[in-house]
Amino acid sequence: MTTRTEMSRRALLTAGVAGVALSVFGRLAPARASEGTFEIMLSEAEWKAKLSPKQFAVLRQEATERAFTSPLNEEKRKGMFHCAGCDLPVYSSEAKFDSGTGWPSFWQAEDNAVRTKEDRSLFSTRTEVHCRRCGGHFGHIFDDGPPPTGKRHCLNGVALTFKPAENA
Ligand SMILES: [Zn+2]
Repeated sequence: MTTRTEMSRRALLTAGVAGVALSVFGRLAPARASEGTFEIMLSEAEWKAKLSPKQFAVLRQEATERAFTSPLNEEKRKGMFHCAGCDLPVYSSEAKFDSGTGWPSFWQAEDNAVRTKEDRSLFSTRTEVHCRRCGGHFGHIFDDGPPPTGKRHCLNGVALTFKPAENA
């Protein structure tokens, strides 16, 4: 188990090398959450300055917000949910459903918006989901969602911002 400081130091070290690789191979280079090579990479201090304490805890430290605390849980307008870290559009209202869990839930993400990794931090293995552009942690994906995908993306509302559609 490495500490977060070690991981960010390692990420910084690899970032220089990966930056060169990325410019050559573009999107072929895979992104990994914890050792992230992402389009948007800020230092911990820069993220702290940019985000609220709750956003930082969730997006950058994989904390989980308390259930039923996010106003986005009840958001039913048409529109787009964006990453609170980098503003990438990540989930559409079209894929939102009421899971009853107290967290905003979606049956799919936008194309090329998120990445996943295995999360073994609890007693079982879960699928963690994060922003493909900045690596910000959103939540987890479970297999008990509705059709057509059967997936439930269980997200922290604080990791998202909502922009209503122009004609909603
Ligand atoms: Zn992002």
